[in-house]
Amino acid sequence: MLIDSHCHIAGPEFADDLDAVISRAQEAGVAGALVILAADDEPELRQASEVAARWAGARFSIGVHPHAAGAFASNPEEAARRVGRAIDSQPLTRAVGEIGLDYHYDFAPREAQREVFRQQIGLARRLRRPIVIHTREAEDDTFELLRDEQGSDVGGVFHCFTGDRDMARRVLDLGFHLSLAGIVTFPRALELKEVARMVPLDRLLIETDSPFLAPVPHRGSRNEPARVERVAEVIAELRGTTREAIATATSGNFERLFVP
Ligand SMILES: [Zn+2]
Ligand SMILES: [Zn+2]
Repeated sequence: MLIDSHCHIAGPEFADDLDAVISRAQEAGVAGALVILAADDEPELRQASEVAARWAGARFSIGVHPHAAGAFASNPEEAARRVGRAIDSQPLTRAVGEIGLDYHYDFAPREAQREVFRQQIGLARRLRRPIVIHTREAEDDTFELLRDEQGSDVGGVFHCFTGDRDMARRVLDLGFHLSLAGIVTFPRALELKEVARMVPLDRLLIETDSPFLAPVPHRGSRNEPARVERVAEVIAELRGTTREAIATATSGNFERLFVP
C-alpha cells in the first residue's frame, strides 16, 4: 500500500478526468493521499467533496501558500482565520498547509510571507494539527520561525524536500518528517539521492506534488498520484531495499501523522 502524501488533485487540472486519475492511483496500489487545498481558492475547497466522494483514502490539508501571502499583508491574522473556517467546513482535514516561505519566486513580499506563516503555525498549535511546510531558498528564516512559534509542538512535514544533508539533519533535529517527490528520480539530483539514503525510515514520506514534478520518465507531463510508485521504487533502489519496505514505512508514517 502506497500513500501520496502531497498532491493538488482538487485543482482545475484534474476537473475533467478525476475518476480516471483516482482509478489509476488505486490500480497502482496508492490507497490514499493528502490533498492540499488553498484556503483562498473557493472552487478548490468545493471540489474537495468530489475528491472525498471518489476516494475513501483522501485526507485534506488547508493553508494559505506563501505565494498567496501578499493578499494578507495588512492583516495576516485574517489568513489564519480563513484557514480555520475552511477546516471547520471540511471534516476530513488533518493538517494546516501548505504554508511556509518561498524566496525563490518571491511572489509575495517576504515580510508578508513570514507573518502569514507565523499566524498559521499559531493556528495549527491551537487546533493541535501537524503542519505541511513549503520552503524554498528560505532555510534560515523557516527554521527561525518554527523555533519562535514552537512548531515542533505539532510537528509535520517538510514537503518536496530539495535541501542537502545538513538541512535534512536540521529538519530531523526539529522532529519533523521529510517528504521526497519525483525530483529524487532525476539523474542529476545527486545530493537529494544522498538525503534519500540517510533519512531514518520512520521520518520519511513520499509524494507527487501533482500536477507538478512528474518523475522520470514522465518529466514535463501532468503528474498524478499513481506515479508516487516511481518515487518509492527509486528510493528503494538507493537504499538497497524493496519497494514494499518503503511503501510500508511511508504509509505507516502517514497514518501516524495524518490519520489520528
Ligand atoms: Zn509546495
Ligand atoms: Zn504543493
